[in-house]
Amino acid sequence: YKIITIEEGLTKIEFPEYEKVSSDAPVFYNPQMEMNRDISILALQTFQKEQNREINICDLFGGSGIRGVRYKNEINGVGDVYINDISELANEFEEHNIKINHLKDISVHQHDASMFLRSNRGIFDVIDIDPFGTPSPFLDSAGYCARRESLLCVTATDTSALCGTYKEPCIRKYNSKPYKSEYCHETGIRILAGFCALTLSKYAKCIEVLLSHSTEHYMRLYLYVKKGSKKSDESLKNIGYISHCKECLYRETNKGLATPIPETCPECGEKLIHAGPLWLGDIQNSEFISKMIKESENKKLNTKNQLLKLLTSCLNEAESPATFYDVHSICKALKISAPKLDLIFDELENKGFKAVKTHFSPIGIKTDAGINDIKEILLNF
Ligand code: SAM
Repeated sequence: YKIITIEEGLTKIEFPEYEKVSSDAPVFYNPQMEMNRDISILALQTFQKEQNREINICDLFGGSGIRGVRYKNEINGVGDVYINDISELANEFEEHNIKINHLKDISVHQHDASMFLRSNRGIFDVIDIDPFGTPSPFLDSAGYCARRESLLCVTATDTSALCGTYKEPCIRKYNSKPYKSEYCHETGIRILAGFCALTLSKYAKCIEVLLSHSTEHYMRLYLYVKKGSKKSDESLKNIGYISHCKECLYRETNKGLATPIPETCPECGEKLIHAGPLWLGDIQNSEFISKMIKESENKKLNTKNQLLKLLTSCLNEAESPATFYDVHSICKALKISAPKLDLIFDELENKGFKAVKTHFSPIGIKTDAGINDIKEILLNF
């Protein structure tokens, strides 16, 4: 093999040259995921500081080992790091990358991901799940393995399933009905979080979402895991449905799996479309994200400008309602041209509504105003 050498953060990583980024590469490395890894450095460091103790980390799908190696090399207060991958060649490069970064207390394992989690119950403070495509088949083992007060990081690259391009893959993998609306990336993240919550609840564990983002072709969740059957029962009250009207763009959310959901739109009488079950609790934690932003001052990260924009956006949308309005879709329905976004925000605020931008869409508005309030504002420009 010809060897490629790259640098992310403070870490040097080597892997065999490949033709294109795909699961067929001898050892997987995707440069487009650098910001995802940089954000993980900030999230894990913030988590470590909050816990105020040494943390043990499991990089479950190592590939080149870049996550595990970076975590050990760039985060303070890390104890043991375990890098796992089913591929022998990946293991060889993981060992090599540990060596060229002169690291100790970091080991390499060759197991199926679920087997590895099941045989190491309760020893990890952080489990990072970064598979090809869907994390769904591994979440049961993560639920079994995860200890109380731990961090579970989950990447999904099967966004077309979560966003509902086709319904069946989402129902199959996440047991949830998606809907391809203007805000389908948010619905997708909520389906993923909901599936994590439901899966973990089997093991009397529950989640708090610390940070979530949908970027390019992947989604990423940082979940704080807590233990207890009462807490889990309580937390599952955040599972519910989003109901959407294709005709007038009205939407509503209903928490609770057993709560009846309306069949028709209260505004125009059309049949509502339902997405879910999904997570209707918070998907951004402002305290945690603020700490991450502060932490970025202490770290060398190549994607810092880009990730700070994203984190600031996630921070701003914390505590805002589920779903957002897409100005272009509403204007299209009203057969008018779209006014400047800032003017709409001003007008919403004048009328006493809260309104914030969202990282999910550059033309999205998260607000407590209803669809008719927004239409009225748009028609009066
Ligand atoms: N975390 C890496 C990074 O940031 O560059 C990328 C990991 S790559 C998306 C997925 C890896 O999972 C591949 O290296 C593959 O060999 C490994 N893999 C696939 N199926 C697995 C399984 N069932 N158990 C463990 N590893 C598996």
